[in-house]
Amino acid sequence: MLLIALRSGVNLSLPKGNREPLVAMSSIPSMLTVDEALARILAAATPLAAETAAIADAFGRSTCEEVRARRTVPPWDNSAMDGYALRSADVTAAPVRLQVIETIYAGQLPRHQIGRGECSRIMTGGPLPAGADAVAMQERTRPCGDHEVEILEPVAAGSFVRPRGEDAREGEMLLPKGTAIGIAEAALLWSQGYSEVRVPRRPRLALLSTGDELSSVEAAASGKIIDSNSPALSLASANCGAAVTGLGIARDNAEELGQALANRSGHDVVITTGGASVGARDFVRDALLAAGAEVIFWKVAIKPGKPVLFARRASTLFFGLPGNPTSSLVSFELFVRPALRRMTGRADAVVPSIRGRTEVEVSKPAGLTHFIRATTRSRDGELWATPLETQTSGAIRSMVGATHLMVVPSQTTHLAAGDAVMLHPVSWQR
Ligand code: AMP
Ligand code: MG
Repeated sequence: MLLIALRSGVNLSLPKGNREPLVAMSSIPSMLTVDEALARILAAATPLAAETAAIADAFGRSTCEEVRARRTVPPWDNSAMDGYALRSADVTAAPVRLQVIETIYAGQLPRHQIGRGECSRIMTGGPLPAGADAVAMQERTRPCGDHEVEILEPVAAGSFVRPRGEDAREGEMLLPKGTAIGIAEAALLWSQGYSEVRVPRRPRLALLSTGDELSSVEAAASGKIIDSNSPALSLASANCGAAVTGLGIARDNAEELGQALANRSGHDVVITTGGASVGARDFVRDALLAAGAEVIFWKVAIKPGKPVLFARRASTLFFGLPGNPTSSLVSFELFVRPALRRMTGRADAVVPSIRGRTEVEVSKPAGLTHFIRATTRSRDGELWATPLETQTSGAIRSMVGATHLMVVPSQTTHLAAGDAVMLHPVSWQR
């Protein structure tokens, strides 16, 4: 099937020459839906054993146990503003003049208690002196010489005071088990004096490209197709927290493949690309079966990525991704990423899609759920998606610039410009 982008829209259903015939794939009974396939993957993927990791290294993984506050932060009431710490009762009839008895900087403890008619100049973060119950912000005051200030407006009790323990109280639960550690969570841990946290160990992931036509990036032999899948999937996997081992390129013969896939028990995940379909030299499935793996599914009713295969042997999960570069990265997003998220402890293993709109008309045949690579922009508070001009799964440029996959369900054949559509965010850009 030829995927053609038109200026006014995207038509995914125009047959050309002797390419694949236009058929409704819904008639093939063995193909799973994405959700069925995902359910089988998530039933097989479990959080890995806990390890202690430095917080920066734990970024992207999830807590294995709840984390409690070690200290009360802030340790004392302090000022949220540069201004004057005072007794609110003294300024109910503002404007009012107060005597300034000291200046309190952040990092310095107050020396004097505030008495009636008194105040202290205070900087943001400075501990509130005894006797004071509020802070007047500097912009609402007028200095009168060195030792007096005029408070221009009344200040309610508690104004601009950050109470002790506002962020955390010692012993309080800070992060429940299963919390994804992002930058904010890491900052919270650091603010508590933690330098390490218990998280699932990184999934050990092996990558194998298959195909007689392939050459490594380093060799870049002329007349060969450069293996871009392995380095791209390596980056994508590392992005999901995996520790990646490259197994290189296996030729299209059953023995070589079988050898490469045997003895992988040291890996939690093995990804192959290519050789997963029904071609005369597509040996991945046979090699996995020969290696004693159980094939859990083969083929999902999606485009791109239909021939994707999922198998397991003991605790090792095998993903046989199609060789087309776009198919491999799309199926990574749909299937491998959730598995890695589950293994690294995330409760929200499946990345949620969001509802947006299509900028242009889209048509496709019924049968497969299409994942159309799209750029997006925000307009009037909504996310609008534009399919990339080419949608052929062999073309890497059908992904370049894409932030989302536009999900066009199996039975949907047409979307008008402006129609609502689900958009699945991809991890290809930071
Ligand atoms: P296959 O899934 O083995 O039938 O391969 C489908 C298409 O993807 C073929 O045109 C391959 O040359 C191409 N391909 C397979 N593996 C890779 C790879 N590692 N890097 C780039 N292209 C590939
Ligand atoms: Mg091949």
